[in-house]
This record gives sequence, structure tokens and C-alpha cells, in this order.
Amino acid sequence: AAHRSDSAVTQPLHILDEVFGYNAFRGQQAAIVEHVTGGGDALVLMPTGGGKSLCYQVPAIARHRRGQGVAVVVSPLIALMHDQVGALEEVGVHAAFLNSTLSLEEAQHVEREMMSGRLTLLYAAPERVTTPRFLAQVDSLHQRGLLSLFAIDEAHCVSQWGHDFRAEYLALNVLHERYADVPRIALTATADEHTRADIIERLQLQDARVFISSFDRPNIRYLIVEKDNPRTQLLRFIRDEHEGEAGIVYCQSRKKVEETAAWLNDEGISALPYHAGLDAAVRQRHQDRFLREEGLVMVATIAFGMGIDKPDVRFVAHLDLPKNIESYYQETGRAGRDGLPAEAWMAYGLADVVNQRRMIDDGTAGEEFKRVQRGKLDALLALAETHECRRVRLLEYFGEHYGEPAPAAGPSQDGRSLLGGQGAHGVPTPGAGCGNCDNCLNPPATWDATEAARKLLSCIYRFQQHGGGFGPRAFGAGHLIDVLRGKRTDKVAQYHHESLSTFGIGADLSEQQWRSVLRQLVALGHVVAEGEFNTLGLTDSARTVLRGGVSLQLRVATETKRGRGAKAKA
Ligand code: ADP
Ligand code: ZN
Repeated sequence: AAHRSDSAVTQPLHILDEVFGYNAFRGQQAAIVEHVTGGGDALVLMPTGGGKSLCYQVPAIARHRRGQGVAVVVSPLIALMHDQVGALEEVGVHAAFLNSTLSLEEAQHVEREMMSGRLTLLYAAPERVTTPRFLAQVDSLHQRGLLSLFAIDEAHCVSQWGHDFRAEYLALNVLHERYADVPRIALTATADEHTRADIIERLQLQDARVFISSFDRPNIRYLIVEKDNPRTQLLRFIRDEHEGEAGIVYCQSRKKVEETAAWLNDEGISALPYHAGLDAAVRQRHQDRFLREEGLVMVATIAFGMGIDKPDVRFVAHLDLPKNIESYYQETGRAGRDGLPAEAWMAYGLADVVNQRRMIDDGTAGEEFKRVQRGKLDALLALAETHECRRVRLLEYFGEHYGEPAPAAGPSQDGRSLLGGQGAHGVPTPGAGCGNCDNCLNPPATWDATEAARKLLSCIYRFQQHGGGFGPRAFGAGHLIDVLRGKRTDKVAQYHHESLSTFGIGADLSEQQWRSVLRQLVALGHVVAEGEFNTLGLTDSARTVLRGGVSLQLRVATETKRGRGAKAKA
């Protein structure tokens, strides 16, 4: 029975149809399945919902049917293991998991099934896979030719640059060292260059073929609004666009999660809180309700979401800025897994920028790490501030050029060539937008803010030169705007700022317009807000602007929209 290698039942397409009831592979699935079934290593970068599971399940079944034994699937998520094993057993594939939820007897039964080679797929958490006891069992399978492949799911967990670093993943390099002849397939939905390079290096996938799918999620509409009264903005968004639909609202703090959930309920929108500070039983209950019931809104910290496979989440809203673009992509990606229209909405303001910068600065990490984090934050801010297509920007971050076909993973594209820093994609096609983001649907007006920016920057510069009898001092946003607009406040009098050459030079712009300019200058990295009072300072790049070396096109502040909202409420 061990030598049916050329029979039809071991053919991937046959397995896809017979076992899963699908008649065609999607995207790169066919190439991946063929490569891994044939014994090759692979790194698979595919967006959430793209169909990663079949990429190792079909090869596992094919190789099992050829007498090659058991596939070991490393997965960090117990809930996901349960779901997958249940679904596999239902379609007649012998699969099991080993984790802490099993009794001793159950675990022993699974181990017997594994050791006999009868099992097709075994799921286990990384910390279990790397124990001496488990490795001894795998050794025995290996010696008997009954170890068909390793699949490493959520492979980005090996990277400390990612949003979900798990130290247990580091030990998985043992798989390559001990079982070099056994094919390995690592999979992730996170694909920025840092993370990708980390996965290749730490899991020793230098010789693996890399399969990159397009990360575009065409059914998700991206919307980023200026933060004004965020709760009201959120409520309006839900009421106008998503009444009675399931959604996730992300907040940064537990307190804000609780408050926002309570407030939504008061406003007649069924919402549940979810954060790591809640009792495990409560968390489980809320998660189960969210999955089972219709139209619930989950208000959560980022503790919620990984491995949550609810297909009909119609919106993901961010009340606070995520850490970086990967997080934004990952979190918004939980919307619309069923392929139907869904929205990713975010309210964003100056305080978000300042908070995120401070969290990095105050962190205990080393300088190099902070530098990378700052770069990542800047990329996210650029996405938030852009007046061009959000999708183009988002995909660009993942090295993809919107509108061009996803690159074929040719044989030259292995882990080594990617580590060499070679881009995986061709040249950009400028100009084309997606037609399904706020900027495409409603192109924002822009204006030449070079002059205004120079006024603002030189006003900060004056503060630093002239503290008003107290020596050089720094001031916050409110005072800066008062001085620019020539307002004679007590503070202006106290520091004699009416005598500054910049006093009143910005009377032509409203306070809100100045706030918008300031926020964009902070986002662009020309101005920093520091310390307990968010006092403003200039960066080196501000000098270039001051000297007139660059021209700045900024978004027009969305005053009209606010007016409408305020009226609608009144
Ligand atoms: P991922 O792990 O990449 O988020 P999944 O493996 O959970 O994605 O697949 C997402 C959904 O797409 C699942 O419901 C799966 O059954 C379905 N799917 C995957 N591949 C195919 C295919 N070739 N044909 C039809 N449906 C597919
Ligand atoms: Zn667009």
C-alpha cells in the first residue's frame, strides 16, 4: 500500500476535489502544493483568507497516501487547532492535536496514532514540538520514513519585528538541523521585508522557494478620518453604514475598551468588551457570542483577533492608531473574509502620533529596535496623511505595486535572493487608484502649505530663541497657534510673545487649519512633541523646509464635514 505514488488518489487536484469538494486551486496554491508534495521547502506569504491551510493539508494527504506518514503542523493557536482538526476529521482525514487541553489518556491515544503513522496531520504548539520527549518521537518516525512534512503556521511569530513575537518559535530551527531532508512549509499573512527576512533567517529557509501572493483585499474599503469627537464619529459610522452588522472596534487601552463598549450599548448598539484584563471565562464567552450571534460589535484591544475566523465581519474600526502598517493590515484584514464588501475605518489625530512616538521613546528596547519602530510608525503616518490612494500606499509597503499582476515565484526567488534585499516586484505604475478607498472615492483637496509650514516652523524656532525673559523655552500646540493667529492671551502677555516677529503672521488660517498643518508636520517628522506637556521642537528635516528647499502639499482640513456632523447631531 506504500507505493501508490503514481495513482490518481495521490494527485493534488484529485485530493482537492475528493476530500475538500473544490474544483480548482486558487492563486498560487497549485504551485505551492506541487512544490511541497514533491519534497521542496516553501515560505508562503498569503493574506488572511487566501487559503493557506490547503497549502499544507493537500501535500500532507498526498504524501500520507504515498506511505510517507505524518505531517507535523506547528500552530500557536489552540482554538484554531480544534477547528482545523474537527473540519479535517469531518471530511475523513485522520488528524489530531496535542496540547494542554487533552487528558493524559487522550494525549497517549494521539501519540499512539502518530507513532503508528496512521495519522495524516498532527497539530501541536511550538513549545510542545521542541521538547526532548516530542523530538524523540519525531526521531523515531523519521527513522522509519514516516515523517511527511513540517508546516509552520503563523511563521511571523519568529520575528521580533512583528506584532506577535513568540520566543518558542526561535527553537523551531531545530527542525531544519535535525530533519534536513523533510520538507518544511512556513506560512504567514504578514509580509513586510523585515519580518520576511527574519523568518528566512531564523527558520533557516534560505533554500526555500518563496511564494508571494497579492496582499490586496479588494472588498475592503479603507477610510481614515480626522479625529474630532471620535466616539460620535464612530457611532455615526456604525449607524449610517453598519447598523445591525458584526464589527470590531479596536482601542488602545482596557479602560477605553470598557468605556466605549458601555457607551455603544447605551446608544443602542450591542457591543461586548474584550481585553486581556478580563477573566478568561468572560473573554471566552464574549468571543463565542461574537462568533455565533449576528450583528454584535466587539470592542477590543489587540488581544482580540488572532485566529478569529468569522467570515462576515463587516467593519473594523480603529479609535486609536495601530502600532504600524502590519498591525493595521492584520487588524483590518479581519473584515470581509467572506469576500463581500466590508470597511476598514480609522479615526486619527495629533494625539495619536504623539502617543505612539512616546511609547517608542519610553520603551526599554535598544536604539536599533527603536529606530526600526519609528520608521514603521512613520510609514503608517504617511498612509494616514496621504491624499493619494490608500490601497496603493498600503500595498506598496508590502513591496507590491497595485494594478500589476502578483509576481510569479520563479525558481530564482528563494530565501537567499530575498535576503539579498532584492525587491520581489517590478516598477510602479503611478497614478492608478483603486476606486475603493476614501481618497479615490472623494479625492481630498490639497493646498500648497509650504508658506504656512515655514511660518509655523519659524514660530517654534523663535520660541527656542526667545523664551520671554525665562531663557529658551518650548511651548505646546495651543500656545503656538495662539501666537501664529495673534491672540493676546495671558500666556502671550506673560512671555511677551506679542513682540515675536512671528506673532500674528498666521491670522489668515483658522485654528483648525493650523492644527491640521501641525499634525501633518509632526506626521512628516519635521516637528516633534516631547515631554509631559507635549512641547514642540524642530527636527533636522525642519531646516530644509525652513530654508525653502522643499514644497509641501498638504490635505485641506475637513472642516465642512465637521460642520455637517455637528449639525446632524444638534
Ligand atoms: P487563511 O488561513 O489563509 O486565512 P484559509 O485556509 O482559512 O485561509 O482559507 C480561507 C477560506 O477559503 C476557507 O473557507 C477555505 O475553505 C477557502 N478556500 C481555500 N482554498 C480554496 C479553493 N481552492 N477553492 C475554494 N475555496 C477555498
Ligand atoms: Zn484607492
